[in-house]
Amino acid sequence: MPRTAYIHSNDYADLVSKLPSNIDRSKKVHALIEAYGLLRLRDLTIISPRKASVKELCRFHSRDYIDFLNKAEQYNSGEESDEGNGNNDESGNPHYTRASARNKEDKLEEYGLRFDCSVFEGLADYAAYVAGSSLEAATLLCDDAFDIVIHWDGGRHHAKKDAAAGFCIVNDIVLGIMELQKTFDRVLYLDFDIHHGDGVESAFQFTDKVLTVSIHHYSEGFYPGTGSGTSTSARTKAVVNIPMKAGLSDGTLSKVFDEMIEPLVNQFSPDAVVLQCGVDGMAGDPLGKWNLTMTGYSDCLRKVMAWKKPLLVLGGGGYNTMSTARCYAYLTSQILGRTISDEIPEHTYFEDYQPDFSLFIDAGRHADSNTEENLVHIRRLVDTQSKSLPFQRQAYT
Ligand SMILES: [Zn+2]
Repeated sequence: MPRTAYIHSNDYADLVSKLPSNIDRSKKVHALIEAYGLLRLRDLTIISPRKASVKELCRFHSRDYIDFLNKAEQYNSGEESDEGNGNNDESGNPHYTRASARNKEDKLEEYGLRFDCSVFEGLADYAAYVAGSSLEAATLLCDDAFDIVIHWDGGRHHAKKDAAAGFCIVNDIVLGIMELQKTFDRVLYLDFDIHHGDGVESAFQFTDKVLTVSIHHYSEGFYPGTGSGTSTSARTKAVVNIPMKAGLSDGTLSKVFDEMIEPLVNQFSPDAVVLQCGVDGMAGDPLGKWNLTMTGYSDCLRKVMAWKKPLLVLGGGGYNTMSTARCYAYLTSQILGRTISDEIPEHTYFEDYQPDFSLFIDAGRHADSNTEENLVHIRRLVDTQSKSLPFQRQAYT
């Protein structure tokens, strides 16, 4: 059995549950995993989350951005203004007040803290904890304390060096990979989220020591609009994008994994693996693009585990909260080699699993637009991108 760690505390789940894009998701995920008895197993060690220091956050993020994050809540509520412009509703000058409000909006926009990443209560703590917990997970793997570390609350792949993006405030993945690089020469980053893993890709695109592979939905107008598989610059080293069409099914994902991802990984020969397991491609997600089930994700996870490399398993997107909880509970059971019942056990959130109270969800009736012909095209794209990959190391005898 792999030595497995699981990053969790109730306080941390409460904090992550405030993330506006995923209200209460963390609490429901961990509650279901606990209800199945998985957190009591002897072969699972629960690790307390920890806060990243400003210095640690600035290994990737800009100091300006982190400083702003730390005061964003007060800034947003109007208690603090770094402009020194007397933003004051009692000034009696409506033009002055409107200008100040505009400055404030501009500043929030500059750091990506509007719209999908708007400021919420606990933002700075959330950012420090999500990053610190992925750093802790990476350190445990570097120390060879565990074979697999699970951090379902991590996986914020869109965050940029100096801005939040796409529901992601800080990029715990980039920080985690940087930590892994202290011990492991080659790190593979594999991203199953329905959105392109743009933040992680851009952080490592010019090194051949981190291979980033992202399989995602790609169509006009779909966020973030990158990852076509054709747009890499001449300086790009180890980046492979696998753009898929609507209706992606478990069967097609499995084929893509076997025929495209597996050979790439063999060629790259990683020393450690980071898996971003966003499940917003599941049937029933409000995004409504793909048609995967937890069987599709678990088949891929099983294949990744078969590589027997130090493995960091992260969460990501997933906007049908109850499906996400089901999927992460099932994947946790698979990592631990346990079979869990299809009947949702009684627990605090039991009523949310009506009407069927069952674990497994069915695929929808979505047709899979990823035809054989389309897969031929994608295979060609992947072959072209993999040309710049370093070859597998020679075995020295
Ligand atoms: Zn996503």
